[in-house]
Amino acid sequence: MRAIRRFTVRTALPAPLAALERLSLNLRWSWHPPTRDLFRDLDPQVWDAVRQDPVALLAELGPDRLAELAADDALVRRVRAAEADLDAYLTQPRWYQGAATAWEGGGPTSVAYFSPEFGVTTVLPQYSGGLGILAGDHLKSASDLGVPITGVGLLYGQGYFTQSLSRDGWQTETYPVLDPGDLPLTLLREEDGAPCRVALALPGGRTLHAHVWKADVGRVPLLLLDSDVEENDPDVRSTTDRLYGGGGEKRLLQEMLLGIGGVRALRLWSRLSGAPAPEVFHTNEGHAGFLGVERIGEALGAGLGFEAALQAGRAATVFTTHTPVPAGIDRFDAAQVREYVTCAVPAVDGERLVALGAEDYPGGQPGIFNMAVMGLRLAQRANGVSQLHGSVSRGMFDGLWPGLDAPEVPITSVTNGVHAPTWVDRRLDDAVHAATGARPTTEPGAWARAGEVPAAQLWSARRQMRSALVTDVRRRLRASWLERGATAAELGWVDDVLDPDVLTVGFARRVPTYKRLTLMLRDPERLRALLLHPEHPVQLVIAGKSHPADDSGKRLIQQLVRFTDDPAVRHRIVFLPNYDIGMAQTLYPGCDVWLNNPLRPLEACGTSGMKAALNGGLNLSILDGWWDEWFDGENGWAIPTADGVEDADRRDDLEAAALYDLVETQVAPRFYDTSGAGGTPARWLEMVQHTLSTLGPKVLATRMVAEYVERLYVPAATSGRTVAASGHAGARRLAAWVDEVRGGWGGVRVDHAESVDLSDSPQLGEVLAVRAWVSLGGLSPEDVDVQVVHGRVTQTDELVSTSTVALTHVEALEDGRHSYAGDIPLRRTGAVGYTVRVLPRHELLASPTELGLVANA
Ligand SMILES: *Cc1c(COP(=O)(O)O)cnc(C)c1O
Repeated sequence: MRAIRRFTVRTALPAPLAALERLSLNLRWSWHPPTRDLFRDLDPQVWDAVRQDPVALLAELGPDRLAELAADDALVRRVRAAEADLDAYLTQPRWYQGAATAWEGGGPTSVAYFSPEFGVTTVLPQYSGGLGILAGDHLKSASDLGVPITGVGLLYGQGYFTQSLSRDGWQTETYPVLDPGDLPLTLLREEDGAPCRVALALPGGRTLHAHVWKADVGRVPLLLLDSDVEENDPDVRSTTDRLYGGGGEKRLLQEMLLGIGGVRALRLWSRLSGAPAPEVFHTNEGHAGFLGVERIGEALGAGLGFEAALQAGRAATVFTTHTPVPAGIDRFDAAQVREYVTCAVPAVDGERLVALGAEDYPGGQPGIFNMAVMGLRLAQRANGVSQLHGSVSRGMFDGLWPGLDAPEVPITSVTNGVHAPTWVDRRLDDAVHAATGARPTTEPGAWARAGEVPAAQLWSARRQMRSALVTDVRRRLRASWLERGATAAELGWVDDVLDPDVLTVGFARRVPTYKRLTLMLRDPERLRALLLHPEHPVQLVIAGKSHPADDSGKRLIQQLVRFTDDPAVRHRIVFLPNYDIGMAQTLYPGCDVWLNNPLRPLEACGTSGMKAALNGGLNLSILDGWWDEWFDGENGWAIPTADGVEDADRRDDLEAAALYDLVETQVAPRFYDTSGAGGTPARWLEMVQHTLSTLGPKVLATRMVAEYVERLYVPAATSGRTVAASGHAGARRLAAWVDEVRGGWGGVRVDHAESVDLSDSPQLGEVLAVRAWVSLGGLSPEDVDVQVVHGRVTQTDELVSTSTVALTHVEALEDGRHSYAGDIPLRRTGAVGYTVRVLPRHELLASPTELGLVANA
């Protein structure tokens, strides 16, 4: 029999314990050990049985047990203290409140952060991998810093999927149905108690309705839209059933709900809670890009023309691109986007809409609507997620700025970070605390001193963390084999899998091809030899989910699982199904080495290695993403890459061989060189200490969020306010100016440039006086910057390592011609050169290259 309705009855807590409900609903418990301890102590057995989920725990405790607990004065005092501590965390001024006093206008009163997935905790499974975990860490760190952010996403009724293995190692997926009533969420309701609703009109007179749930991530509200609403037709009701499930129309509806519905949910939230309207909109990857279309629609409704509405929206929008892999970017049929989106946002003209996502550059595909391209066009500020990825993105998207060389494309970078209180093992936190008196998880300044932990204590903490992993691996492996059809009697060997004293290497990530899950299997004999080495054995823990539609990824998993099933090596290498936050929290701390071997430069940043580093793990990685930036020769190892080798097989062979060599000749010998005091590996521990104290401060998500605030949110808020002031006068002015400059740019050129008064062999310290004559057509000198770009020149006369100097206007000549002059100090020896160019100039541009207009000499 099937139930026709289901609902969750929440426990009525006795008054002295009432605060437990709030404590269970605010996800701060997930990164606040004392609150977790409190929940555990309510009933340690049930706590483990419900997988450390406070909402489930409270539902399991019956009235008798609760009455007993309510009579325990000491416990009631702990509950009150925990609530008081939460209140203090939620209300006291934090970093942002102090820093904001120095910013003109005080910094944004509110920032909206959109993401298709949020990985906050295991008990809210709304993520598939790095993008979602990053979004979760962003919110948690914003909360710790007091940044006034609101998250916006979708609530997937079945989350991503649960991974298990078949007998022969094939990935199988199950989709447990989540009941929002069992999750740490509250439904937004109108004053009369009716659930609030967001609605999007669809073609054919249909409507997509959604409820809005709120998760409390510390100080940060996270709004999640849910299409599982009775009023919906069955075909659209399933819009939010699965994360990244389905393509075509369903994917489009998800992204419309996220972007357009998300803005409507924010308006709803402001109306209900009195929260200020967001002054900045940040979109984590392109999926939420329609938020910009909705905001253009709002501005058109307020009487602006399209261009002014576009400028008003762009000024306050930040776009973060996350992938150099084309398959990671959503592309739709342009006609379908036009049909659907103009229905939901009728104020926006179809032609203009389609132009926003058009790939109208060399190599682009006609008839396609590209979400990343729209994201870049609708945001005045954009960034990649590591320095290398910023540079790769500038090259990848330079078609959108046709006049510019790739290095000048206005996409900057903010390197990702990770949320230390979520990812640092308590044993490590305690070890640093014992040595320095400061806790790195709550006092980021403590990282710089983490190297002071004495070798013996550090080694002992590391061994405990490794042992905890070994225990967890055996438990998971047994469960996996039982699912694969083995009987308990066959599984005695599982108790001897892994060894708490063997060098432990971890590798866990999603399984797209570029991450090369099976690179380690390139030469199976060499891998076997490393695992079974008589003095220096290595053990490997591997995990990762393949997208359900990606059979090639599943084949890689199967290939690996088959290798690990071999009785000759299975005590030294394991594949653990269902990689998630819960597994990761034991896995990273337990690994001595974190392996990463993507195909460079396709890993935009990578964050798992950062989490390993914060636990004293050493990275062994291709120089890609963040590692390219922060590898320093002492904090781990760089696997040499065969960049430029065209033959993919040969490249894999070369890079795999380099990996084996490193493990064999450097990593393992150093780990087992226990000639240090008390039998510790002295050189190894020096590397660990160095990693903690130098990488520790860099890889923090609080560092990342502070950078977003200072470099992107505050300037975006300022721009947004400027264009919005006096009835959007600035937006209208900017739109008119852009129109004029675009129209007149054909008449702009550098007619002639020369340097005067220079001897034949100029010397360092001399000054080069440059004069230039330019034609501006109908534009005026106020509209442009005339610049000298100077730097080193290569053999082929390319300018590199350039600097720019603005020339000053000397005089207006006839026919729109003008002369300019300026001095360049010669600051370097060798072959140098310069060129002259004209760029548009306006105080409301975020960068002079923003329009992609340039006239070069
Ligand atoms: C950190 C993390 C990721 C992302 O790791 P990458 O190194 O970016 O691939 C994926 N899944 C989980 C569960 C994580 O904790």
